[in-house]
Amino acid sequence: MTNVVEKVYEQVVERNRGEAEFHQAVREVLESLEPVISKHPHYAEAGLLERIVEPERQIMFRVPWVDDNGQVQVNRGFRVEFNSALGPYKGGLRFHPSVNVGIIKFLGFEQIFKNALTNQAIGGGKGGSDFDPHGKSDLEVMRFCQSFMTELSRHIGPSTDVPAGDIGVGGREIGYMFGQYKRLKNSYDAGVLTGKGLAWGGSLVRTEATGYGTVLFAQSMLATKGQSLEGKRVTVSGAGNVAIYAIEKAQALGATCITFSDSSGYVVDEAGVDLELLKQVKEVERGRVADYVERRPGARLVTEGRVWDVPCDVALPCATQNELDGNNAATLLRQGCGVVAEGANMPSTPEAIEAFQQAGILYAPGKASNAGGVATSALEMEQNASRTRWDFETAEAKLTDIMTDIHDSCVVTAEEYGRPGDYVLGANAAGFTRVADVMLAHGIV
Ligand code: NDP
Repeated sequence: MTNVVEKVYEQVVERNRGEAEFHQAVREVLESLEPVISKHPHYAEAGLLERIVEPERQIMFRVPWVDDNGQVQVNRGFRVEFNSALGPYKGGLRFHPSVNVGIIKFLGFEQIFKNALTNQAIGGGKGGSDFDPHGKSDLEVMRFCQSFMTELSRHIGPSTDVPAGDIGVGGREIGYMFGQYKRLKNSYDAGVLTGKGLAWGGSLVRTEATGYGTVLFAQSMLATKGQSLEGKRVTVSGAGNVAIYAIEKAQALGATCITFSDSSGYVVDEAGVDLELLKQVKEVERGRVADYVERRPGARLVTEGRVWDVPCDVALPCATQNELDGNNAATLLRQGCGVVAEGANMPSTPEAIEAFQQAGILYAPGKASNAGGVATSALEMEQNASRTRWDFETAEAKLTDIMTDIHDSCVVTAEEYGRPGDYVLGANAAGFTRVADVMLAHGIV
């Protein structure tokens, strides 16, 4: 790292001790911005780097609730409002036992550049709780969500901060939180949350958007080599919102998806994933991946190793951060994988990213390839503000255009800095420049 960048990174580590994921995300962005800072020294001179790594506001709060046995439970809630240069803070809420302030900050930091890449008027933020929805009754989830929103409602609003879903937060949780927000504020502000149900302000295609967008991005990368997804073997990790709709779109484009996973193991289905069965198990029954194998002849459950052990042409990590390490990357490369497009946020470790880049394969960082979700959330806000609703085709066409634009702007930006095909540099430099120029225009705030 150059002196300027190294100094900022060291300060981040010093000031945010023990927040390993946040350090990792900052390092990845700062390192790749070195050519930008060298070419445009005015960014560093204006203290832009020091400012962009510091959240505008961090909120941490107690979330007390009562379980079905009448016991009081206490979780911790977070909302990190990272950067509002381009618009209201925007980013999901994650409910998972691993959640801590460092994880929320890494996600919020990534969100700034991702949102900028969509070219929409949205700033970056993220939130969540260490609450685990797994194994909880609907009533427990509702009581938790109501308590969580009772505090969060003080800090958000359609022009201030607009949360959405992420791991552990889907339509059910957004519904309970919206109901509580509406009750507290005595106001039907549909634009305060995205990922809403279709009957109460949701947008068609929002459910599908992140997974579809990731696959569209992979398709655009392949097109630069005169190829497509048709006939490709694809491995997918995760079995949640992003993974399911990545599988749906990849199969619609002629690929065969042969894996998915959850925290209990992964499934290999060489015949191609039976999407209806997967949706039934995961979306309707909230079951485990083993439930799929029980009903699907030929599919097998693997509880050792990782999904990346399975040979493929294209890999789509769609579960969580750091789920694909240097060894997994070496296995993927050895077995002929030529494309990695991240549906999850920061699923590849720095060692894995280095291996992909050295091998010269097509590698898309999540902040570019999974931006379709937040982009469609911004489309949901647009429909809420104008009290209209677009049909599926209209919303999907807009998503496709946005993903194509993001892809092309990564390509053009990487070329501008003399590193064609480097989607990491392309995404970080294009996203950073958009935010940084607006921050300069707004003065020192
Ligand atoms: P879901 O909660 O719907 O699904 C998450 C999936 O990943 C589940 O199958 C879950 O398994 C698995 N998983 C999560 N954490 C772990 C873990 N620590 N170890 C093993 N498996 C794990 O979440 P989403 O599909 O919404 O999110 C997946 C990823 O995509 C996340 O990185 C998220 O930040 C990112 N993302 C999501 C967007 C969205 O629109 N939803 C937008 C952009 C990015 P299990 O149920 O067993 O925990």
